[in-house]
This record gives sequence, C-alpha cells and structure tokens, in this order.
Amino acid sequence: MLVARTKSAVSFCPCCGCRTGRVHSHYVRRLTDLPWQERIVEIRLNARRFRCANSQCPRQIFTERLPETARPKARRTSRLRDRQLAIGFAVGGEPGARLSHRLGMPTSGDTLLRMIRAAEFKPLEPPRVIGIDDWAWRKGQRYGTIICDLERNRVIDLLPNRNANAVASWLGCARCVLVDPFRDYLEKRWEEGERRGQQLWTEIKRRGFEGSKTIISRWTAARKQRSSTAASNVRWRPPSRRNCARLLSKEPRSLDQQTERFRWRCMRGRPAC
Ligand SMILES: [Zn+2]
Repeated sequence: MLVARTKSAVSFCPCCGCRTGRVHSHYVRRLTDLPWQERIVEIRLNARRFRCANSQCPRQIFTERLPETARPKARRTSRLRDRQLAIGFAVGGEPGARLSHRLGMPTSGDTLLRMIRAAEFKPLEPPRVIGIDDWAWRKGQRYGTIICDLERNRVIDLLPNRNANAVASWLGCARCVLVDPFRDYLEKRWEEGERRGQQLWTEIKRRGFEGSKTIISRWTAARKQRSSTAASNVRWRPPSRRNCARLLSKEPRSLDQQTERFRWRCMRGRPAC
C-alpha cells in the first residue's frame, strides 16, 4: 500500500474551467495500481474537494481532477486500466480475467467486458475502397457479409445475411456518410438553381469530397424526385369568400399561377357595372 497526496495548490473546475485554491474538504481515495513484484499495489490518495471561485457556476464544490493518474470516480489508475483493457481485447472476458489474475492484476470477466464496452474509439474515417465478401456464421449453414476497408486493412461491418438488399442499404448509408459534410453546400447550390451533378461534384470535390460522381448523380436524382413530390403534395385550395374579395384587389403578379387563374375567372364572372 502506498500513501500519496497531490502537490498542486490549485485545481480547475471541471464545469466552468475556473482556477481555484479554496479547499472545501479532504477525503481518502483508493486506487489500485500496476503490481509490484507480483504483489497488488493500492494507492491511498489524500484527495481534496475544492470550492469553485466562480459564483455563477452550477457546480460549487468539485473533487480535484487527476487526468494523468485516474479518471473521476475510477477505482484503478489509468495505466492499470489500459493494461487490463488490452488483455480484455486480446482474449475476452473470462480468459482475460484468468490471465489478468496470473499477472497480478485481478479483475472479473464481467468488469473486463464492461471496460471493453465503455472503451472509446476514434471515429472511423469514411472508407474510399471497400471489399465485400461472405463469411460463415456456421459453415455450410448460415452466411453473412463482411465489409472491409481495403486501404486501412480492417473490418468495417458485418451484415447478418448475404442478400444484395442488405449490401445495397449499407452502401446507401455509407454514401450518406460521405455526402453529409457537404449537404448544406449542395442544398444551397440546389436552391440557387444548379441541377447538374457533374458541376456539383466538381465544386464539392474542391472542398474535400472523396466520393465518386455517381454518388452525386444519385443525390441530384433523389433531390429532384423529392422536389417534385413536395410540389405535387401541395394541393391548391380555393380561397374563402372573404379572401376572394381581397384577391380581386391584389396585384396579379404577386399571386401564384393557380390563384391568378382563379382570380381571372372571378373577374370574368363579375356582373358588369
Ligand atoms: Zn465552476
């Protein structure tokens, strides 16, 4: 067992980032560390609670943070956690627990699985070149589809079956991921009247788009269809009697085509004065 205390006189509020040296209270924090001579090492850390110096901060009292040693509320140091996590990723829950025990870092299989599930991963970059193949859930009986990033040499996804539809819908999602960062720009250009897929592709390629022309051609086709559906869904309704009187005094150019036609008919039907 090691007894330790922090040296810094000040701490930074995790909520507002304000620097403070006003200690509220002390407490003992127990952290399991890497083993020494195959013995389990426990650190008893004399930690502190601080008062935030910012009176507007919603968190008035906070425990001091030790980002290089352990996460908040963690019961093991970050370096022990990293090693146990590596074991968990290599051999799984229960085998990992047995191996970890032999190496002087005892933990349970459930804890290892919890750590694996909570592990943070870097967000995947959209793949440019992919490979698709089938793989066996159970050889000769049930097959799925495996999709790999051929440039980074890693598996991206596993689909539960090997239907063309499943792959097509996956590719649809992948295209969305590629197009998403440029969607606002494409919509803006569409509103400005640019309908040519080739031109849109050239413009967003200059801005860093890595997909093919086909993706943008499909986007323009889908956008065109959406516009026409939206237009056909808007049903024209004849105005009420009160609005008819207002329409007759309106400037024709300010009206849409159908309302203008309606107004013209009203004028034609008006009894001669
Ligand atoms: Zn604060």
